[in-house]
Amino acid sequence: MPEIRYCPECGRPTEPHEVAGERRNHRFCTHCRTPLYDHPMVVVTCFLACEDRLLWVQRDLEPKRGLWAIPGGYLEGGETLAEGAARELHEEAGILLPAHQLQMYMTGTLTFINQVYVGFRAVVDTEFCLPGRESQACGFFSRSECPWDQVAYPEVNSTIDQVYDDLDSGEFEVWQAEMTENRYDFLPVSQYSRSRS
Ligand SMILES: [Zn+2]
Repeated sequence: MPEIRYCPECGRPTEPHEVAGERRNHRFCTHCRTPLYDHPMVVVTCFLACEDRLLWVQRDLEPKRGLWAIPGGYLEGGETLAEGAARELHEEAGILLPAHQLQMYMTGTLTFINQVYVGFRAVVDTEFCLPGRESQACGFFSRSECPWDQVAYPEVNSTIDQVYDDLDSGEFEVWQAEMTENRYDFLPVSQYSRSRS
């Protein structure tokens, strides 16, 4: 995980924060006397299905501009998780859904990019969508129509494949993911604790 090497307030180099001889997992500015926390950002997404097709958006922002992803982004202050995911659907694909129609679907920690991830799912009965300012295009794709060679985050393709499986079976678990530099666990919540015991 990248560290905060320089203090954002005074620009001086930071050092590891020690409290009573114990090293904490954040840096410290000895000039400002401030701990510099690097708390994870919360990313919210929504898997929006129309029959066996999922909504994808083609990014018009760096990074990964021009590549396809499931609509989502950072949670903002004052929003609930579902409200944030619903806002992203609207911003990126012009789809207005009330937050209460989004169901909890996935949760996870992505330690290597310092993010906490929460995914929802919802269903619509038309394929209406309209790319927003942050998208070049958007559309509903079945598993076979999906532009797999132009996806922004191929490291999570197996997760999206699972979503297509769930759409096929009509059975939806809540999934838990843990993705670190060297490990990717993705299991239904009901099996997660058992696999750890
Ligand atoms: Zn400082």
